[in-house]
Amino acid sequence: MADEPGLIPGIYIYCDRWCERCAFTSRCLQFRIEAEDLERGNALQNFDAMNLKFWQEMGKALVQAMRLIREIAAKEGIAPYDLQKETVFSEPPESLQRDAREHPCANAALFYAGMVNEWFAAVDELSEAEESLLTHPPHTLEEPIEVIRHYQYFIYPKIVRAIEGGLSKKESVGIESDDDVCGTAKVALIAIDRTLAAWSVLYGEYLAQEDSTLSILLHLDRLRRSVEVAFPAGRSFVRPGFDG
Ligand code: SF4
Repeated sequence: MADEPGLIPGIYIYCDRWCERCAFTSRCLQFRIEAEDLERGNALQNFDAMNLKFWQEMGKALVQAMRLIREIAAKEGIAPYDLQKETVFSEPPESLQRDAREHPCANAALFYAGMVNEWFAAVDELSEAEESLLTHPPHTLEEPIEVIRHYQYFIYPKIVRAIEGGLSKKESVGIESDDDVCGTAKVALIAIDRTLAAWSVLYGEYLAQEDSTLSILLHLDRLRRSVEVAFPAGRSFVRPGFDG
């Protein structure tokens, strides 16, 4: 099966493991093995095209999210310079660098996962619906909430893995050259981008939660920039199939 034409070698190494939303299932060996159904080639291509459209729409939402964050910053009186200063979580003390889980980026990612739970719990508390918004969203918000749920606990382990990779090479984080470190950091960055886009869709939908939605957006934006600083080669890493 690995010799089949059209398959992209190694595409599954730096993906987000969200096969249901992947635009490359028909070209992924991992998926084909798991699907164990070689007859579904055409169906998979249609499925991929649909998912490609989904992520193109989400890409537009990210552009809007960035605009929204700039507008919010202006409204809240956060000058661009101050925002820039806030982007980098402080460098960890030397002793903490032995443990990637205590790196500020990792802490911020874990903190974000908790913010999500708090946000949804607060919405549920005010809602008269019997089901939780997180598991039973209204039709119009199904997709952004699906994105938020998928990446809620995905970002933290990816960041920890990238930091561990950097530390294991006895390089200070920020000077990484290892492909696995860069590829893992890139996947984390993409997950943050998509999550930001999804939250920007929710912003304004729940007025009582506007402040906490704003906090999440700003927190994620800072985390995104911090990861970019910690892994400067992460963004430009070319993942097989997805980026080149
Ligand atoms: S590349 Fe796509 S289909 Fe393959 S394992 Fe990753 S998410 Fe799933």
